[in-house]
Amino acid sequence: MTKFSELGLNKGTLATLEGLGYENPTEIQEKAIPVLIDSDKDFVGLAQTGTGKTAAFLLPLEEKLDPTSKKIQTLILSPTRELANQIYGEFEKLFPRTKIKAEVVCGGVSYDRQIGAIKRKKPQVIIGTPGRVIDLMNQGLLRFDETKFLILDEADEMLNMGFLEDVQLVLENIKNDRNIWMFSATMPREIKSLIKNEFSEPITVSSSTESSAKKSIEQR
Ligand code: AMP
Repeated sequence: MTKFSELGLNKGTLATLEGLGYENPTEIQEKAIPVLIDSDKDFVGLAQTGTGKTAAFLLPLEEKLDPTSKKIQTLILSPTRELANQIYGEFEKLFPRTKIKAEVVCGGVSYDRQIGAIKRKKPQVIIGTPGRVIDLMNQGLLRFDETKFLILDEADEMLNMGFLEDVQLVLENIKNDRNIWMFSATMPREIKSLIKNEFSEPITVSSSTESSAKKSIEQR
């Protein structure tokens, strides 16, 4: 069985994982983490919720981001507030001691509070739903000119909910030498054409549909 220490993660991260009781990487983590750390290519991961996909894209970020820069380096788009908050929860668990900070940008929270938090915290990672992200982007309050990574989580769900145009609008505002990392449970036609039109030679990996993270928790 592959160990986390074989995937290219730094010692601090390995200690955190041990503390969390994550003994072995799940299938999607094992396949995605080394590729995301080593290559500068776009990425498509076919994986459902419960497979450990969130850590599969969060863990490589620490190896990629510059903690000394206070610009937004990563935007993670989620179809729902609930998922955005879950991603944030996982982020806080995985990065308790780093200088990399994240903030959630979603509807349902007052603008003042959200804008205040962004100004104060200067997060390198924004986790948000498309509507509110675009709102703040249009007001010039979120600037993506230094953003290197756009992560689309549950992309099929995002498109089902009618966010395709929003995703495209965000893409237009992120410079060309960015990478897109997409995670989706299914590959409908709209996702395939989004990949064809917006991604450059992506690496694709897939995880079996069974919830491998859940299984490894149950086994313990
Ligand atoms: P996700 O599919 O990202 O929603 O993750 C499902 C659950 O599995 C979350 O509660 C994670 O904290 C947990 N998890 C993720 N990776 C691992 C792992 N390698 N070992 C044990 N639990 C994990």
